[in-house]
Amino acid sequence: MIKTDITVVHNFNSGPSVLPKEVFEQASNAIIDFNNSGLSILEIGHRTSLFQEVLDEAIASAKELMRLDDEHEVLFLHGGASTQFFQVPMNLLNENETAAYLDCGTWGTKAIKEAKIFGNVDVIASSKDKNYTYIPKNYTIPSTAKYFHYTTNNTIEGTQMHAIPETNVPLVADMSSDILSTTIDFNKFSLIYAGAQKNIGAAGVNLVIIKKDILGKVTRKLPSMMDYRIHIENGSMLNTPPVFAVYVCMLTLRWLKQRGGISAIEKINDVKANLLYNTLDSLPVFRPKVAKEDRSKMNVVFVIDSEVLEKEFLAECKANGMVGIKGHRTVGGFRASLYNALPLESVQSLTDLMKDFASRKG
Ligand SMILES: *Cc1c(COP(=O)(O)O)cnc(C)c1O
Repeated sequence: MIKTDITVVHNFNSGPSVLPKEVFEQASNAIIDFNNSGLSILEIGHRTSLFQEVLDEAIASAKELMRLDDEHEVLFLHGGASTQFFQVPMNLLNENETAAYLDCGTWGTKAIKEAKIFGNVDVIASSKDKNYTYIPKNYTIPSTAKYFHYTTNNTIEGTQMHAIPETNVPLVADMSSDILSTTIDFNKFSLIYAGAQKNIGAAGVNLVIIKKDILGKVTRKLPSMMDYRIHIENGSMLNTPPVFAVYVCMLTLRWLKQRGGISAIEKINDVKANLLYNTLDSLPVFRPKVAKEDRSKMNVVFVIDSEVLEKEFLAECKANGMVGIKGHRTVGGFRASLYNALPLESVQSLTDLMKDFASRKG
């Protein structure tokens, strides 16, 4: 049964998360009849022109939106961002070599653990001392490091790097939770990876961007499915790609282009984040958790210093159709994720509720 009376839900989920309504409609139609082919997107062969066009458009859109130069290859790979935690060092780091890592959150910590399987890891700075509530600033990246890895946005803790580090060492970044949300020079990176389920599309696929000159330098043997060079040679079609997930990415990238691209969405993202942080700062009952200069525009983390009031606020969010606002189990409190597809109205509804709650309970 298709529900026609869907009530408004404000989706603050951290991932999988909100996608544009148009994308849901188009994806639903494609499950029934893909581009008037008489076939569902779920039953087309991946080596047909029907799917090749989808993949080609997804890759072209990613290149266009991120203004990537010809040195950078775009791949859609399986396994989630967590697979990249080990696929990166497997492809880039010999056992006797050292990679520099920044430790500023749960995901970065996991990436460090995996990298240690393949070579030496130099954790050059960490914000673990304060539960990852800030981004370390005064560190130097050793020029001898094979690459420097960091997480651009710490999804769980709610911090974000607002500048690209200056270095000659190849940059590798996990951009899972802020890719396509803010204008940066993506060409400065040698490798970028992002699980699709936050700003790009449906879970089940990764966007991986690689500057070709960093490949082919490790001596270990790589299984084909783990070898970036083989994926590049095969145009992300070494085996059956996650067809539907790639299709949803293509639709979401098309949507972003139609909305004016990254610089246009960045303006709206700034409005959304400012509205929420300004509201939090103006209401003493709520307390944002991270250093002001490191606040994430994608994941806003805050607490109420009373367990009773936290429960009450959570219940009120639920009653007002706001979902996904509960903080990560390791952090507690609240987290509102403001990804590209979250409408400004959802943030307005949340801040209205906060003001009302504060006037009653503050
Ligand atoms: C969600 C997330 C991941 C994990 O992604 P999976 O696709 O579940 O492996 C890794 N890094 C960051 C920054 C994330 O936000």
